Amino acid sequence: MLALITGASKGIGRAVTLELARKGFDVAINYNHSEESAITLKDEAVSLGVKAEIFRADVSVQEQAVKMFADVKAHFGENVSVLVNNAGITRDNLLMRMKAEDWLTVINTNLNAAFYCTQLAVKDMAKARYGRIVNISSVVGLTGNAGQCNYSASKAGIIGLTKSVAREYAGRGITANAVAPGFINTSMTDILKNDVKEAILKSIPVSRIGTPEEVARAVSFFASEDSAYITGQTLAVDGGMTMI
Ligand code: NAP
Repeated sequence: MLALITGASKGIGRAVTLELARKGFDVAINYNHSEESAITLKDEAVSLGVKAEIFRADVSVQEQAVKMFADVKAHFGENVSVLVNNAGITRDNLLMRMKAEDWLTVINTNLNAAFYCTQLAVKDMAKARYGRIVNISSVVGLTGNAGQCNYSASKAGIIGLTKSVAREYAGRGITANAVAPGFINTSMTDILKNDVKEAILKSIPVSRIGTPEEVARAVSFFASEDSAYITGQTLAVDGGMTMI
């Protein structure tokens, strides 16, 4: 079975790709800027005994998402059975200082891209009467966060998208679930100042930052046949930060 992971070149997407490859999925690796990392990842996946290929696309641009799906299909000769909408960015600022451009860029990348890719994937999944959509949200999509109104809105939007797709396609063997990571060690969180990191750490009951691999294992469960009776759910992988 073929899995397509958006924003797979780094961090959580990279770990998800390797976890799915370990589980025997062929992997279509989407990246935008980080080509070298994507190539290294492809080699690692192939060494696990599965087929892998890289596909450059800015998934926030619908035409590029359409071309990526066509290229993936042509390369592997099969449809995507598992879609992981993982590509994401931050452009943090307080509400009053946030530029409309930063609002739009984040919504386009974190939410609109997931809509484009889900629509493209579901077309084939519905015909096959099987599919797994796994969307990467965030705990701030559940709780909100000062300085992240664009990011929080995009991640709350992801949860609404997940639930609606789950309801529309439950009868066609397609599940849609979201994973909401907390504070995970990737380049997205590397840029935070030490005092911010320390403050976040104090809010985590397990008292440590999470790893991309810990998120990947939850994604892998939702990508598997074992989760057939679970749809429309959001699972926080956050060391106990939210407990909603
Ligand atoms: P990261 O290390 O910064 O990686 C982000 C990935 O997204 C990169 O591979 C990047 O690809 C890709 N990407 C960004 N814009 C893209 C676009 N327009 N088209 C295609 N790919 C694009 O971040 P991360 O922490 O792994 O984040 C992965 C996901 O987890 C995001 O949705 C993020 O919001 C979510 N998340 C992260 C945390 C955390 O604490 N780290 C917490 C909650 C949720 P290129 O480098 O190739 O451009």
